Amino acid sequence: MPISERLEDLFLKYVGQTSPFPAKFPIARAEGCYLYDREGRAYLDFIAGISVTNVGHCHPRVVEAVIEQAKRFAHTMVYGEHLQEPQIALAAKLSKIAPEGLDSVYFLTTGAEANDAALKLAAKMTQRRVFCAFHGAYHGDTVGAASCFGSEDFRRPYESILLPVRFLRYDCLEDLSLIDEKTSGVLVEPVQGEGGIRVPSREFLSALRRRCTEVGALLIFDEVQTAFGRLGEAWFAADLFEVTPDVITVAKALGAGYPLAGVMAPREVLYRFAAEPPFSHITTFGGHPVSCAAGLAGLQVIEEEQLLANAVKQGNFLMASLRELAARHPVIKEVRGRGLMIGIELESAALARRVVDGARNRGLVLETTLLAENVVRMSPPLIVTHEQCACALEIFEESLKRAVGASTS
Ligand code: PLP
Repeated sequence: MPISERLEDLFLKYVGQTSPFPAKFPIARAEGCYLYDREGRAYLDFIAGISVTNVGHCHPRVVEAVIEQAKRFAHTMVYGEHLQEPQIALAAKLSKIAPEGLDSVYFLTTGAEANDAALKLAAKMTQRRVFCAFHGAYHGDTVGAASCFGSEDFRRPYESILLPVRFLRYDCLEDLSLIDEKTSGVLVEPVQGEGGIRVPSREFLSALRRRCTEVGALLIFDEVQTAFGRLGEAWFAADLFEVTPDVITVAKALGAGYPLAGVMAPREVLYRFAAEPPFSHITTFGGHPVSCAAGLAGLQVIEEEQLLANAVKQGNFLMASLRELAARHPVIKEVRGRGLMIGIELESAALARRVVDGARNRGLVLETTLLAENVVRMSPPLIVTHEQCACALEIFEESLKRAVGASTS
């Protein structure tokens, strides 16, 4: 039996599954913007692990930082006790690029965990019980984050243990009045990812900021997908939209491919975790030194290789080209996004699935979004070149034509 088939058997038998229809892509290695299968065939990666590998796969600077740190020490003590240079250096770097005032970071491991921690912070600070979140939101799958999942279908099976959350329409000024003096915190993605790459108006985010201040609710930006240059132009969506929340949660690209997350806030806000009582939020692996070393190297690469500017340039090229494509193919309903976080809304989820599958057979990795399955996303590493974008566009168009042909024949 070929090795890929053997792996597939073992995968299905022993690895916990997330759906009945996993992609089963047999990854042998990855480098830059490419994934390679076991036969050595290259695939352009236009997903980047869902906005994780912003500096591409196995960037030499990141690999070197990981090896060096792995040789020094991996784990010595639960988070927050020892002076660990990689953590401190990364926190100091983050303080330099953070939106105004949010210059302290509490390190964790995953995005969902960071959102849970932010909700706990809001509860502790306000002593209020109700949270607000948005339809179409995805914040992760721990209990707190899953309580804020903007889809009834996904919440229903776990309803019995979820927190009380009031859901508002995204980008809807009218619904902001539902945030009131009983609201502890509002969790929001400044651009919705899994909801179908939805970019709100600046007016909406500013009004949200004002409303939270008015009623004394903590405004939490979930920048797990949007931070670290994904939107081009700025390190954070908060800067791009010129709206400063009370707290920002980050993960994904923060560790440049290694598990790492953070809650960014003013020092006195984060100190709530350290007091009354002390140790009121702790973690073993938060801010893992190897991940922090990788993360710091990743941020340096973004800066030195001017990847924010590249994200703007390639993002503009992709969006303009996709909009031209939309003019030729009426099955494309809308092209939207910012920087290299792009969504292509198609006529149906079935068509989007055929496009994604067809593209992969032609050497391009794409995906749909979790809650809007008719939206095909493009979120390549920020190092992507013009030639790679042009190649991806060609494969996308070819896959679209074939997928449309398959539905009409
Ligand atoms: N928040 C957003 C906006 C996300 O897109 C995700 C994951 O896709 C999460 C939170 C959860 O992050 P993690 O999977 O690291 O828990």
